[in-house]
Amino acid sequence: MSRIAVVGLGNMGGPMAANLVSAGYEVTGYDLADAARMTAAAAGVTVAASGPDAVAGADVVITMLPAGEHVLTAWDELLPAAPDGALFVDCSTIDVASSRAAHGKAAASGRASVDAPVSGGVVGAEGGTLTFMAGGTADAVAAAEPVLAVLGSRTVHCGGPGNGQVAKMCNNMVLGVSMIAVSEAFVLGERLGLDPQALFDVASSSSGQCWALTTNCPVPGPVPTSPSNRGFSGGFSTPLMLKDLRLADAAADQAGVSTLLGRAATERYTAFLDRDGRVRDFSSIIEDIRETSR
Ligand code: NAD
Repeated sequence: MSRIAVVGLGNMGGPMAANLVSAGYEVTGYDLADAARMTAAAAGVTVAASGPDAVAGADVVITMLPAGEHVLTAWDELLPAAPDGALFVDCSTIDVASSRAAHGKAAASGRASVDAPVSGGVVGAEGGTLTFMAGGTADAVAAAEPVLAVLGSRTVHCGGPGNGQVAKMCNNMVLGVSMIAVSEAFVLGERLGLDPQALFDVASSSSGQCWALTTNCPVPGPVPTSPSNRGFSGGFSTPLMLKDLRLADAAADQAGVSTLLGRAATERYTAFLDRDGRVRDFSSIIEDIRETSR
């Protein structure tokens, strides 16, 4: 398992490919965008002329692409071009149905596959500290684990094909909802004369505590490393949060599950992005709550 192909060398796939090079793997890569190809080449990735060329000699093929349609189209081209025993690992965040369809295509071509979406963002991709939520057979996930261990600090096997995507989507629905809840609480407290630090001190050590509060706090001060201290730059962008909330809505529709708060979060983030339009950390939703309050 020493030759790895990475298709999709963007904000996430680029640094992931670079980390694999640093760990001693022979890495070939491909991206549609010139800039991504150039950055990857500078990091030691052998850039191929096409996706199929990139995977031609690979033991493991990693895709890191924007959405389900890109993964399905790419796998249609890549599966027949890869060696017989190649393992396919999709690390993109995509809808569950597309993920399961991609696994089906891999199975039909006789190749093992894993869906392994990530948590940790660009910082995690650069630092090799991602968390992977893996779906697939036990054998396929075990085969992917040594490579994922280079790229991240933890892999959780979530079950069969597509279950990594299910876990990612459910987690991020909690995140979207909880960030709004925390932000509403801070704005309400401010309006009623409560110092944000006092609210943080109470909630972070009592039943209101959650990641949105204690790690990604939407007010500057209590957590110096949170994006609110630097004008909401970096972090997990509002468009990506909205993408994940929409995936959760679509999955809830298909599964017939009532997710009132998840849908409310989608509406709130959609309206915010329409008004604001800036690509900033999703905790900037607190500004929208302030601005749309009387
Ligand atoms: P990105 O837009 O920076 O990179 C995607 C890359 O895929 C682009 O460079 C694009 O040119 C390339 N691409 C598209 N179709 C292609 C094809 N057929 N062949 C080759 N290259 C192709 O996006 P990103 O931030 O790297 O995100 C990638 C995935 O990771 C997404 O599914 C996203 O939801 C997920 N994700 C991103 C973050 C984050 O913080 N950026 C965090 C967690 C998960």
